[in-house]
Amino acid sequence: MKTLAFIHSNDSRTAVGDFSPVVSVFSHYELGNTISPFLLLDHLGPGVLQPTRLRKGVSEHPHRGFETVTIVFKGEIEHRDSSGGGGLIGAGDVQWMTAASGILHEEVFSPEFSKTGGTFEMLQLWVNLPAKDKLNPARYQSLRENQIPKITLNQGAGYIRVIAGEYLQHQGPAETHTPMHVFDVFVPAGKTLTLPAQEGSTTLFYMRSGRVHILDADEHLESQDMAVMSNKGSDVEFTTIQDSHFLYLSGQPLNEPIYGKGYFVMNNYSEILQAYEDLKNGHFLNPQSSE
Ligand code: MN
Repeated sequence: MKTLAFIHSNDSRTAVGDFSPVVSVFSHYELGNTISPFLLLDHLGPGVLQPTRLRKGVSEHPHRGFETVTIVFKGEIEHRDSSGGGGLIGAGDVQWMTAASGILHEEVFSPEFSKTGGTFEMLQLWVNLPAKDKLNPARYQSLRENQIPKITLNQGAGYIRVIAGEYLQHQGPAETHTPMHVFDVFVPAGKTLTLPAQEGSTTLFYMRSGRVHILDADEHLESQDMAVMSNKGSDVEFTTIQDSHFLYLSGQPLNEPIYGKGYFVMNNYSEILQAYEDLKNGHFLNPQSSE
């Protein structure tokens, strides 16, 4: 079994565009290759959007060198990008966007959700790409709620939604560049569960809400805490103390240099300069291919 290496948490609340509150759970700026292949996680909401006729959200911006994964629990987002990808992402849906060589997009509340307003909650995860794939064509995977296997656990122990990777032979729909598990999990209080993780993998556990005890750890994991597990050992065992919603991530580390600046994550400084140069010259508006 893997053991708890440390708990990472950020008590401050910020805003990203019109999304507030936002917990900036972790980023490569603080944790570097410790969390590879994952780069960043933001927890947007739970918050309330007041009814509005404006297009609220995050205005147009570029990305290069990695993937953004948006998991919506409440509310609805409208997406439109320069590769022609787009659509509505509602509760239960996931958008897996491979920015790779470059994308320009905006992330705004849908007109329908904006009209009524209401509670929103989502997670946005950034997943790094191997150096060899950073300049691939952009790609957009829209994963609908009904495409994501929801495994009901025995004896009322909750459920696991397999977004990427595999749980008990149930395969998640997301196509990834390196092996990883991305699970959206709910487990009620007082249950013990084991989740799959390879020896040598980076394994993270982010609590949206609830309280969990990880096997042999001295501390409990509380809401908005993230557990970073040891690379050694395989699988993770934990017991819930309260009803708990969490995101479970386990992936093979890339172990390549990380050089990030704003919306770009490359391997070195000159590649970042090239990204700004390409953006200035309009290359982000003409992606090499689109789906
Ligand atoms: Mn974005």
